Amino acid sequence: MSKRAYNFCAGPAALPEAVLQRAQAELLDWHGKGLSVMEMSHRSDDYMAIAAKAEQDLRDLLGIPSDYKVLFLQGGASQQFAEIPLNLLPEDGVADYIDTGIWSQKSIEEASRYGRINVAASAKPYDYFAIPGQNDWQLSQDAAYLHYTPNETIGGLEFDWIPDVGEVPLVADMSSDILSRPIDVSKFGLIYAGAQKNIGPSGLVVTIVREDLLGRARSACPTMLNYKVAADNGSMYNTPATFSWYLSGLVFEWLKEQGGVAAMEQRNRAKKELLYGAIDSSGLYSNPIALNARSWMNVPFRLADERLDKPFLAGAEARSLLNLKGHRSVGGMRASIYNAVGLDAVEALVAYMAEFEKEHG
Ligand SMILES: *Cc1c(COP(=O)(O)O)cnc(C)c1O
Repeated sequence: MSKRAYNFCAGPAALPEAVLQRAQAELLDWHGKGLSVMEMSHRSDDYMAIAAKAEQDLRDLLGIPSDYKVLFLQGGASQQFAEIPLNLLPEDGVADYIDTGIWSQKSIEEASRYGRINVAASAKPYDYFAIPGQNDWQLSQDAAYLHYTPNETIGGLEFDWIPDVGEVPLVADMSSDILSRPIDVSKFGLIYAGAQKNIGPSGLVVTIVREDLLGRARSACPTMLNYKVAADNGSMYNTPATFSWYLSGLVFEWLKEQGGVAAMEQRNRAKKELLYGAIDSSGLYSNPIALNARSWMNVPFRLADERLDKPFLAGAEARSLLNLKGHRSVGGMRASIYNAVGLDAVEALVAYMAEFEKEHG
C-alpha cells in the first residue's frame, strides 16, 4: 500500500480515500458489466442510472427544492461567469455584483462583456480582509440578478450570512464552499460550483437553477451555454463529463454515509477552529481576515518573516503535508481544508506549525 499524503491543495483538491478505492475497484469492470464507466454510452441505462443517482443524492444532501434543476455542465466555474449573463441579463438590463476578491473580480470582468454591471459593493476599502455590510451596498433599481462569491478561495474571505435582495434572483459562486455546511437553497436563484474543490474531479461544474429563470437566454447565447437546453436534455445535449459525474456521485454517497452536510459542518467547524486557534495563539503565524469573515475551507496565513517561507514549505513536504504554498497573488501559505481533508490532517499540520515555530520563532 502506498502512503497517502495530507493534501491541502486549493484545487483540484483532495478526494476521500474511500471514494478513490471504490473507483479503483470498479475501474475495469463496473458492477460485473465487463467495462469501465469511462467506456459506457452516456445514454445507456446503466449510465443514466449512475447520473440520476448522483443528482438525487445531491438533492438529498442540500435539500434542493423540486422547482430547481440540477445541471452537470462543463467549462468550469469560469465558463459560468459568461453563461450567467448570457442566460439571465437582458441586453438593456443591469446586474449587481459584489466584489470580495479575485474570483468575484473575474466574474465581473467577464459579465461586463455582455451588459451593464453595477459593482454594488467592494471589499477593497478593507483590503479584502472584511466584507462590507449590506447597508452599504449600492443596489440597482431593477437588477436582473445579484451575483456574489460566498467564499473567496484565494483570499480566504467568506460570508457568514446570505444577502437579502428581495425578489432579485441571488446568484452564488459556491465553488469552494458548497457542501461544507447546510444552506437554504430556496434563498437562491442560481448556485454554481466547479467540481474540483469540494465535489469531485475537474471537468465538471454543477449549476442549481430555479426553474422560472430558465428560458430567458439571449438569442445569441450558444446552444451549449443555454441553461434551458441543458435542463431539457438532462445535461446530455452532448456528451457530458461522464467519469467526473460518476466520481462526484461516489463523493455524494460518501457524504451521505458520513452523516451529510450537518455532520460536515461539525467536522469542518472543529477543523477550522483548531487551525485558526493555532495561528492566533502563535507569535509566528498570522491571518488578517475579520473574525466573522474567515473562510472555513481556505485558510491563508503568513509567517512573520518571509524568509522562513521556503524552509517552512520544505519541512512540510518532508512530513507529507503538501500544497501549502499560498496563491501567487497573496503570497504566504494557504491550507485548503475541504470535506475530504480530515481532522487528522489539520492536527498534523498544527503539530508541524508548532514544531517549526519552536525552532524558528
Ligand atoms: C476555483 C474557482 C473558480 C474557477 O473554477 P474553474 O472551474 O477552474 O473555472 C471560480 N470561482 C471560485 C470561487 C473558485 O474557487
